[in-house]
Amino acid sequence: RSSLSPLRRINSVINSYANARQREIETLQKNAEFRREFIADISHELKTPIFATQGYIHTLLDGAIEDKQVRMKFLKRAAKSLDSLDILVQDLLTLNQMESGVIKFNFSEFDLKDLILEVIEELEHKASKRDVKIIFDFDPEKKYLTLADRQKIYRVCQNLIFNAVKYNHNGGEVKVSLKQQKSNIQVEIKDNGQGIPPEDLKRIFERFYRVEKSRNKKEGGTGLGLAIVKHILEGHKSKISVSSTVGKGSIFSFSLPLEKKEIKEVVES
Ligand code: ADP
Repeated sequence: RSSLSPLRRINSVINSYANARQREIETLQKNAEFRREFIADISHELKTPIFATQGYIHTLLDGAIEDKQVRMKFLKRAAKSLDSLDILVQDLLTLNQMESGVIKFNFSEFDLKDLILEVIEELEHKASKRDVKIIFDFDPEKKYLTLADRQKIYRVCQNLIFNAVKYNHNGGEVKVSLKQQKSNIQVEIKDNGQGIPPEDLKRIFERFYRVEKSRNKKEGGTGLGLAIVKHILEGHKSKISVSSTVGKGSIFSFSLPLEKKEIKEVVES
């Protein structure tokens, strides 16, 4: 009996080794599948602006260049397509750097209210073109000091507020609010736009995922914005939350730590 025991032990070692190898193979297969899907997605997204630019340039070369008005129109369109290609490539690089963990976060102290005011000022023109009103709700007496990467948080707010404008109705409303809590500041972006169906809600943070691709295509997004938002907030040990009702609108929110100085002031007052 004692001579069988080491045999059994060898057997169990072999079995666990085989199981580990099997799991390794499955992981490799999944990675390969993920990479294939990713390349297919990128190729598809890159093709759109490339085809468009090619089309405009070939039309110009085929004679449209002779007419000044047509020439300007086509050159402007080609430039716009190249701009969107540039944004897509930039977003892909950012996302790739974030996923591989090489991107650095530069933390500094700043007032979130000032940052949001800047974002709103930048987006006001786009919002008024769609007849969307942006309302900012904050306490003017308060400072909303936080310690975070200002540039990246600017990107987060810009993506979320622009989405709330883009996926809204004409005459719609976007309400951005800041709430100071015990040890953090909550940022909420609420719109009364088209909303997101529950089955899509789980997936909107995946790269390239868009609800009803064709409809949103005309909005000129890359489908990478929310994936970038999620990664930036993860880098701040924060999370993005969303709730949405089709036909009623969506609420996106996240929080950042309240700077210690401010916590002291709150406690003292
Ligand atoms: P995009 O570049 O397409 O805007 P995002 O990653 O920012 O990409 O968003 C992914 C998808 O989530 C969008 O295509 C849109 O379908 C949906 N979405 C995002 N924000 C909103 C919103 N506020 N209201 C309705 N749909 C939204």
